[in-house]
Amino acid sequence: MTYKICCPNCQTNVPRVQCFFTPRLDYRCRKCGVSFRISAAGWVIALGVAALQVVWFMLVVRHIVSPAVGLLLVALTLLLALWLLPYFVSVQRS
Ligand SMILES: [Zn+2]
Repeated sequence: MTYKICCPNCQTNVPRVQCFFTPRLDYRCRKCGVSFRISAAGWVIALGVAALQVVWFMLVVRHIVSPAVGLLLVALTLLLALWLLPYFVSVQRS
């Protein structure tokens, strides 16, 4: 799999910590200074993950699964998203 969250100019990867834990929409490459952002398709994928988290929450609220199982599903989804989203979410120049 190809790591897709990288600079469109020089292909420098954006670390996961910077992708997911900084409140920014635009990234600036540390090497060449090009600004870029996550593409619309990438936002759709990220919102799909968020929707899946809401589904897990609703399963707990409706007592379909226990709170422990719901917490496990949320944690697993979050970990899988942190690991896999950079391979599926592409970027575009801003
Ligand atoms: Zn660059």
